[in-house]
Amino acid sequence: MTPDSTGLYFAPTGIAHLTHTNTDLVRAASRGRTRVRVTTAAQLNGHPHLGTVTTIMATFALTARFAHDLGLPATLVFDALENAPAEHRTIDGRRYTRNVEDLIAAGELGSAERSAGFRRLLSWSSARSGVAWQERPYSTYQELAPVRACLHTIARHQAEFAPLLAPADGRIRIRPRCPQCRLMDKDAHHLAITAVDGAVVLDSTCPIHGRYRETVPVHGTTGWYDANTPVRSVQKVALLAAERDLYDACSVSIDGPDWGGSWFAHVIAPALALLGLPVEEWPVSVFTPMVLDRTGGKLSKSLYVKYGTEYADLPPAFLDLDALLDTYGEDALEALWQEAARWAGDPRRLHRSYTVDHLAALIHGTRIGEAA
Ligand SMILES: [Zn+2]
Repeated sequence: MTPDSTGLYFAPTGIAHLTHTNTDLVRAASRGRTRVRVTTAAQLNGHPHLGTVTTIMATFALTARFAHDLGLPATLVFDALENAPAEHRTIDGRRYTRNVEDLIAAGELGSAERSAGFRRLLSWSSARSGVAWQERPYSTYQELAPVRACLHTIARHQAEFAPLLAPADGRIRIRPRCPQCRLMDKDAHHLAITAVDGAVVLDSTCPIHGRYRETVPVHGTTGWYDANTPVRSVQKVALLAAERDLYDACSVSIDGPDWGGSWFAHVIAPALALLGLPVEEWPVSVFTPMVLDRTGGKLSKSLYVKYGTEYADLPPAFLDLDALLDTYGEDALEALWQEAARWAGDPRRLHRSYTVDHLAALIHGTRIGEAA
């Protein structure tokens, strides 16, 4: 076997053998549907790094590929998770957070600073791929009727869902926030979740302002709750299943590789069974390649911030989209786009990981092993 023009070898993998093109992954679910509706998500935690950039580009490239191969129009919905924690406080030994949205509302955080990089990347990828996108903030997501119906189902069946959603301590995190100061009890020590007729009732305690209650009606938009990652992830498959009929769509979620493998096996698949969703209504889940650091771990911006060049001897540009564009211009985006399009076009390339050095070489226009 000889490497391809970018220096890669391809080990045989099961799913790449099973499919001739990546569109084979969505072919059955698209039958009889009039559109493709793809959803992806990211926390608005500042400046996207190379792994996030390639995940978003691969999502657009795959969507364009599906649309072309199936002859259907496609749209991409970007779930912006502005409920990500942005401030951490410990009071009486308990952990509390306030989220991005609340800090922006309080004027303590700039909205543009948190989201400008993402919006620039999404707009560029949309123009390059010809796939339209729309942004859906978490505040909108948590109001949607199928999302709230799923919340109610989880609240009614906490004993069955707890081993999937909170295997370590059994505390399902559907958290309200203090109506006065917006502090949220991160570890849900004071939380009581109750399903009543047509609503979920959340009781909690603020360390400063005392007890409070949030009522979340299933059919209504009042009330607010923070669903932690596993809860939100299960709600999302329920939403995508409902959107098959709402939009007559082939519903697809495309996400980074963390959400495949063990996450899908231990959280999502058993939750789909508990929700009682028939297999033919399951949304399709597709996962993009992982970008690895030099030790074989997932490239992590937080590790880079913490350990610097000791962790990854890389120019800052590879960990921050703005710096990448300042240093290399839009040619860097085009080089990464070409790679993402190759992933979308070939199952052997989609079901694979890539080192940050491979991507860096593409940006530099050199082969791996050659001097940049
Ligand atoms: Zn409070």
